[in-house]
Amino acid sequence: MNRRKFLYSVAAISTVSAMEPFSKNLKYISNNFERSKNIMAKFELPPLPYSYDALEPYIDKMTMEIHHDKHHAAYVNNLNKAVEGTEMASKSLDDLITNISKYPAAVRNNGGGHWNHSLFWTLMKQNGGGEPTGLLSDAIKSSFGSFGEFKTQFSNAGATRFGSGWAWLVKQNGKLAIGSTPNQDNPLMDIADFKGTPILGLDVWEHAYYLKYQNKRAEYIENWWNVVNWAEASKRFSEAK
Ligand code: MN
Repeated sequence: MNRRKFLYSVAAISTVSAMEPFSKNLKYISNNFERSKNIMAKFELPPLPYSYDALEPYIDKMTMEIHHDKHHAAYVNNLNKAVEGTEMASKSLDDLITNISKYPAAVRNNGGGHWNHSLFWTLMKQNGGGEPTGLLSDAIKSSFGSFGEFKTQFSNAGATRFGSGWAWLVKQNGKLAIGSTPNQDNPLMDIADFKGTPILGLDVWEHAYYLKYQNKRAEYIENWWNVVNWAEASKRFSEAK
């Protein structure tokens, strides 16, 4: 090793060791920042229970990425901002939703958005579709006559919801009913015109289908039946009061 190379090596070593405490410190600061952010962030974005492309070709990968990572994430972030430092931060999401008339519009919109989307992801799956079995199948037949008639009425509730909103199948006084709500409202909200325990929910906001279907909401709804997770809907039906 000549003198020039030797000096370079010494310089390199001393740069690394001089940097080390600093970088450790930075890491400590950023870990602590992450932790304090998590403490403040009461509500969290649940991970999608399948890959972004799992619902292809009916719901495309890019729609799922934007819908979950941007739209749902924004509802969660804005809900956290709205409750931070208030007595609402000590409430569960269900408590906020069921007493929503007491709370500000930001909690109604973003809390509803968080609740609705958290449910929506679980009600779909790869290779879903078909028909429910067991108690839910019996209840659908006794409430609507046939599975086909139920599908027609539910699809119609989604297609005719003006502007943005959701179509729902709910359990209401022990029976099934179909309806819809505007914006991010849902049938658990005390202010809702249509009430009940959601068994099935369909997002008919344009952001749910516009990239693939543009203005053709009816076509999105028709294809959505191919990804419905009936096992999850049946479980919700059995557990609903
Ligand atoms: Mn949505």
